[in-house]
Amino acid sequence: MRSFSKFDLQYAHRFYGFKGEAQYLHGHTGVLTLEVEDTVNEGVNMVFPCNEITKTAWEVLKNFDHALILREDDPLLPAILGVYEAQGIKENEPSNKMKGPAFKTELATAYPESRLVVTKETMTVEGMIKIVYELLKDKLNIAKITFTSGVNGAYQEYEASGKEMARCPLCGIALNENGVCPKCGYKKRQI
Ligand SMILES: [Zn+2]
Ligand SMILES: [Zn+2]
Repeated sequence: MRSFSKFDLQYAHRFYGFKGEAQYLHGHTGVLTLEVEDTVNEGVNMVFPCNEITKTAWEVLKNFDHALILREDDPLLPAILGVYEAQGIKENEPSNKMKGPAFKTELATAYPESRLVVTKETMTVEGMIKIVYELLKDKLNIAKITFTSGVNGAYQEYEASGKEMARCPLCGIALNENGVCPKCGYKKRQI
């Protein structure tokens, strides 16, 4: 069965080098749906607690919220960083609080201090799905990612079977490598 969580992301971007309106800087409310697949964990009668999916995913996704997302070769990038720098908001701005831990993958690098994500490819809905999968594939049994933004939408399904996660029968969350629940301390009995 699957559990799923939804996330709203407000962001600005543009398609650098694209012919059409999207080559101009503009904003969206994107909706990302993350589906996690596993067996129903008998103790809690859940696949995976949705609040835990939300917590795990939001750690990385909040870097995209109220952020500017630009491709690495976009000349707007140095221009905007120059303005942020001159204004003193590039780093250590005390009111910029909702920051996730910085990340760097093959496809994207987050600069939470500047609320900026720099991508390798154009950040289309398809591009966003690739980025998010790369960031979360080792943390959740992802079966499907859907992303809609304005009139655009895309989804990708993934092979989630065969890698069933050991989960706490009391909390439903994944046990650590020692078979211990990081939340309540439950320990899986050795058979
Ligand atoms: Zn757009
Ligand atoms: Zn537990």
